Amino acid sequence: MNVHNLMEELVYTEVNDLFDTAQKNKAPWLTCSCSQCRLDTICYVLNRVPPKYIKSGRGLAHSQMEESIDKAQMAADVSRIGLEGMKQVLSAKRPHGKPTDLPETPVFNFPTFIGRILDGMTFEPVKNTSITLYMDNRKAESIDSSWENPYRISDHTPGTFSFWVKPVGAAKEDQKKVFSFELRAEQPGFEPLQYFFEIGILSESIIRTAYTADHAYLLPDLHLFPADDQLDSMQI
Ligand SMILES: [Zn+2]
Repeated sequence: MNVHNLMEELVYTEVNDLFDTAQKNKAPWLTCSCSQCRLDTICYVLNRVPPKYIKSGRGLAHSQMEESIDKAQMAADVSRIGLEGMKQVLSAKRPHGKPTDLPETPVFNFPTFIGRILDGMTFEPVKNTSITLYMDNRKAESIDSSWENPYRISDHTPGTFSFWVKPVGAAKEDQKKVFSFELRAEQPGFEPLQYFFEIGILSESIIRTAYTADHAYLLPDLHLFPADDQLDSMQI
């Protein structure tokens, strides 16, 4: 079954629109509009709007009318929470780093990875945990020092994490390569979490450091479950 959270797309588009509009209007409170601040805002919003899951291809059952009213309402909610999120994120601005030494082009550019960790029993976003991204069995290097790895989940964006891996040099352009990633999270009292995924990347002649909207990779929700001994004691 292919399930898809409609809100992710909507939040992604709305938040980027908010940043673009504020930038165009030279809003004085817009102190930064880099990809990291945008992603933090996206995470902030995703944590505050209920997900809306659909099975792929189900759309027809819904009347067009119902759908457009729904959508307008959701967009209004998202933009309100998005503005609030931007202001939070910009005021709690995390340190922004400089790019580390980047490889010569051509390169394999990675999308930013965004995901959530939930408590598997309560479905609440997990706070105060850190998650590490490994690429080909080694801790992945970030594109610059502001992208933490391990990522420490903050109270501003409970449950959500993001990574941006440094580009890898390629022998030539238009070369395809599959990279394997692993996410690991450890939280006392919980089973260690491991999640594997692979993505195929086509090498390019430029290094993508600027923000592009189609360049995020949304991971499925991950769940932390209490360790066995914890469960046993809960049953007694
Ligand atoms: Zn920023």
